[in-house]
Amino acid sequence: MPTDVPAYTLVRKPVRHVRIAVRPPDGEVRVSAPRHVPKSEIDRFVASRARWIAQHQERIAALPAPLTAGPEAERLRAELRLRVEPLLAYWTDRMGLMPVPPYLIRRMTTRWGTCNVQTRRITFALELARRDDEQLEYIVVHELAHLIERGHDARFYSVMDAYLPQWRRIRKELNGLPPSV
Ligand SMILES: [Zn+2]
Repeated sequence: MPTDVPAYTLVRKPVRHVRIAVRPPDGEVRVSAPRHVPKSEIDRFVASRARWIAQHQERIAALPAPLTAGPEAERLRAELRLRVEPLLAYWTDRMGLMPVPPYLIRRMTTRWGTCNVQTRRITFALELARRDDEQLEYIVVHELAHLIERGHDARFYSVMDAYLPQWRRIRKELNGLPPSV
């Protein structure tokens, strides 16, 4: 591999385009590529994104240490619960989704939240305890919006636009940099 290509792990997948992700906690670069794309072309693509990769790795390196189980995590979990509950109650009502769905707070390293549309259960990342109310609110509205529109498509984004028009700016701040390639 030429030296100007950042180190990466290649995963062959039935995807349409080559995609790059920089993953916490160690900034590993993972590249998904369709089988037919030659390695040399993938190298060139990764090299062309070297700056973007370095920026993401810096951002990940600057993150506080991941929360491990223990008293500190329990304190943050209790704090987060107090902040989540009023937001969840307010937005469930506002979005016409009553009753308030069940929720969980878990340590998650790659996602801020998930929503199981079958059970309506929403899971929030414990890391949100270290984020401000505006960012927490964005995740609450995003996960609730999945109860209206399951996927991340134009209809989903129009639900977000209707309830939280500034969501794109907040998402950018939450993720530190514009979302991936
Ligand atoms: Zn989503």
